[in-house]
Amino acid sequence: MSTPKLLSSSELSSIMLCTCPKCRKAYLFKDRRHYSLMHLFDMPDNCPVCGQSFEIEPGFYLGAMWMSYPVIIPLEVIFIAALYGIFGDIIISFLISTVIIVLLSPPIMRIARSMYIHLFVHYDEQL
Ligand SMILES: [Zn+2]
Repeated sequence: MSTPKLLSSSELSSIMLCTCPKCRKAYLFKDRRHYSLMHLFDMPDNCPVCGQSFEIEPGFYLGAMWMSYPVIIPLEVIFIAALYGIFGDIIISFLISTVIIVLLSPPIMRIARSMYIHLFVHYDEQL
């Protein structure tokens, strides 16, 4: 008896690469650059490959804000621990790790959106 996988490696790569959850071929965002801040969340209405709607319902991605916490909190803890090992000062470590997290927030927010849509739209092997 095999145990069910929570997340396959191809699904994880689809989330991290921000590709369409249904076909895993098209990019979720109009601009591939994570630091194009004026167009950070611009997404096509539908997938250009499979036609999957990227706006499931109005305000769909408000829930994605909650998805960024499971990414940010472990990163912050790891950065603080690593920086504490270097500097030996918890305040300095916290401040530097916070700056790093702020700088990483655009790709993290995109990945959070990708995680969120992958919760509701599943891969279609027929495509
Ligand atoms: Zn697609």
